[in-house]
Amino acid sequence: MELSVIIPIYNEEANIGELYQRLLAVLEPMALPGGFELVFVNDGSRDQSLPLLLNLAARDERVRYIDFSRNFGHQIAVTAGLDRAAGEVVVIIDADLQDPPELIPQLYQKMREGYEVVYAKRRSRQGDSVAKKITARLFYRVLASITHISIPVDTGDFRIISRKVVEGLRLMPEQNKFIRGQISWIGYRQTFVEYDRAERAGGETGYTYRKMIRLALDGITAFSDVPLKAATIGGFVVSGVAFLVGIYTLYSRFVTHDYQPGWPSLMVSILFLGGVQLISVGIIGEYMARLSANVRQRPLYLISDTNIPAIPAPGR
Ligand code: UDP
Ligand code: MG
Repeated sequence: MELSVIIPIYNEEANIGELYQRLLAVLEPMALPGGFELVFVNDGSRDQSLPLLLNLAARDERVRYIDFSRNFGHQIAVTAGLDRAAGEVVVIIDADLQDPPELIPQLYQKMREGYEVVYAKRRSRQGDSVAKKITARLFYRVLASITHISIPVDTGDFRIISRKVVEGLRLMPEQNKFIRGQISWIGYRQTFVEYDRAERAGGETGYTYRKMIRLALDGITAFSDVPLKAATIGGFVVSGVAFLVGIYTLYSRFVTHDYQPGWPSLMVSILFLGGVQLISVGIIGEYMARLSANVRQRPLYLISDTNIPAIPAPGR
């Protein structure tokens, strides 16, 4: 098998038909030696996505599907696809046609030039709300500034990766997946192709703000210790200031006798310190939660039904 396309599906009944057509229109003319497969991962959709996929799979043996027992989230859906994809190269693409399938030949071409990863970089993005664009921009800049590895800015998971990279990803056991970060971490020769991101073709975004915040926190906590350190440094600075203010208070109380009952300053410092402490504890909590998730070693997902045989995990 030369090429696998992994497509996470969450309530995409409006897009599956067109997506399938456009993928075939792009992949068939490529005349890939060994052919291609489409790996649809149904991430607990509540609409007619699954029957649509089963129907496609019954008519076209290149259509593979994995049906989850519930909604596990986009990153986990892609992970399941990676676990079962058979292709020498693997394309990860959104189902909502925001990532144009027509870019795949270009990505593939670049890969043939000797790269292991070719990601698609957004030149512009249409359709997304202003708030989403701003938060996404901000997030990628902050992430870039506090991590050691260089996670490319303004890219999603739309990309083509080689079998080597797939095996690398399958070696990474973490529960809180941030796949684009993991791929940067893996290394090898990486490059990009630029494209204009289209609007969502049909249906609604499955990425609620809740899921976006979780993804952002997963990305930050998985690849940076800076927030933890910032809490410590902030704690030291604030304690230092508080110590100096303490000395000053004693000095004015006993030496200069020039003091006023200081209710406001008291309130301010108590509230401020309380705030700093809560933030620090919260940051530690974020890492702790992820630590405990990894210690639990639960399976990442449960499959309800699939037509793809399992591929044994690479040895560690
Ligand atoms: N998706 C998923 N599980 C989820 C949310 C989304 O598998 O819990 C899929 C969705 O079907 C799509 C891709 O992830 O193929 C990107 O989601 P979406 O387009 O909703 O995100 P956005 O483009 O708005 O960031
Ligand atoms: Mg989308």
